[in-house]
Amino acid sequence: MLIVQKYGGTSVGSFDRIRNVANRVKSLHDEGHQVAVVVSAMSGVTDKLIGMANEMSDAPVERELDVLLATGEQQSIALLAMALQKLGVPAVSITGQQAGLRTTGSHTRARIDSLDAAVTKPMLEEGKVLIVAGFQGVNAEGHIQTLGRGGSDLSAIAVAASLEADVCQILTDVDGVYTADPRIVPDARKLKEISYDELLELASVGTKVMQSRSVEFAKKFGVKFEVRSSLNTNPGTIVIEEHPSMESVVIRGVSIERSQARVTITSIPDQPGMSARILKPLAENEINIDMIVSNIASDGRARHSFTMHTNDLGRAQAALKPVVDELSDTAKIETEAGIAKLSVVGIGMRSHSGVAAQMFEALGEAGINIGMISTSEIKISVTVPELKIEEAARVVHKAFKLDSVS
Ligand code: ASP
Ligand code: MG
Repeated sequence: MLIVQKYGGTSVGSFDRIRNVANRVKSLHDEGHQVAVVVSAMSGVTDKLIGMANEMSDAPVERELDVLLATGEQQSIALLAMALQKLGVPAVSITGQQAGLRTTGSHTRARIDSLDAAVTKPMLEEGKVLIVAGFQGVNAEGHIQTLGRGGSDLSAIAVAASLEADVCQILTDVDGVYTADPRIVPDARKLKEISYDELLELASVGTKVMQSRSVEFAKKFGVKFEVRSSLNTNPGTIVIEEHPSMESVVIRGVSIERSQARVTITSIPDQPGMSARILKPLAENEINIDMIVSNIASDGRARHSFTMHTNDLGRAQAALKPVVDELSDTAKIETEAGIAKLSVVGIGMRSHSGVAAQMFEALGEAGINIGMISTSEIKISVTVPELKIEEAARVVHKAFKLDSVS
């Protein structure tokens, strides 16, 4: 098989850990597989490099920042190659550029433009183990660019796509994707598989497994990947395009987001253009809002509610005040902090009815009050009091029998 593995900063965070990675890679090579390994900088290194840049300038030129940041990964690839060579494995370290990773867009947050396996493929075929620098590539003008924080995941998926790998393993400090956060829901189980879309939806509502951009890229290029532990050899979770039997499971997972706040603007004229006028100052201040609910009160005036992170609440109030004053003398801003969001995600929702009712019933029986509700094709989210969020997650997890998913 042709296997691409990616090790994050923690997995290569010390010399011992690098030796441990080398041993793992050696076993794969010994089994006769073709192996390419994408690595991050040793943990803490990228932050340290950013600190160094900030010593030199308040606003380092991003082109130079990229030249500097790319060195973090160059350290770890060289060290891992040395560790492998010491074990007698024919390893070669290669930069993003040598691996044919062509980037485009702005420095420090470049996108992948194209991939070329002209150098890498023949090396693998000769039996070499490739150690590829994550997070970096080179643009059409020949400048080094980095892919944004956490970008080594993206490099790994891209390398897997270019090599047409059989599988891309993302080795990390979590050992897979769970039906819920096991620290909150002790009955949570590791999933055998999950679809790209489900993982993306879970990521959008608080489940941080890997960069969403990488999952989107994998989906676009049909790269099957596996999230698994770098500390043991247990199978992880396969992330793959959905297939029909996946729909038999209604809910794949439960996710929570804490520290949410609600803003409601009451008593606004029910006229075209009002929603836009209210949301515009938030957009201008780069305040991300999430759930939006609008309705008409019995007096015929409209009310708009939306949620955001608690940290943005003060700024949102300040941004909204002038608009609300201008709209009418009766319009008011109400706020509520101390809420959290609970979401359930599953592609099975498309073909099963009554999913929302089942979720709301479970919460109702537990005496947990639901605030706002929003849905997408494969997700239902509600807000509940923050103090109840963990209980809410457990109750809903149980209601959908996620503790017995195989
Ligand atoms: N070293 C880079 C970072 O810390 C890229 C990565 O780790 O994926 O963001
Ligand atoms: Mg990292």
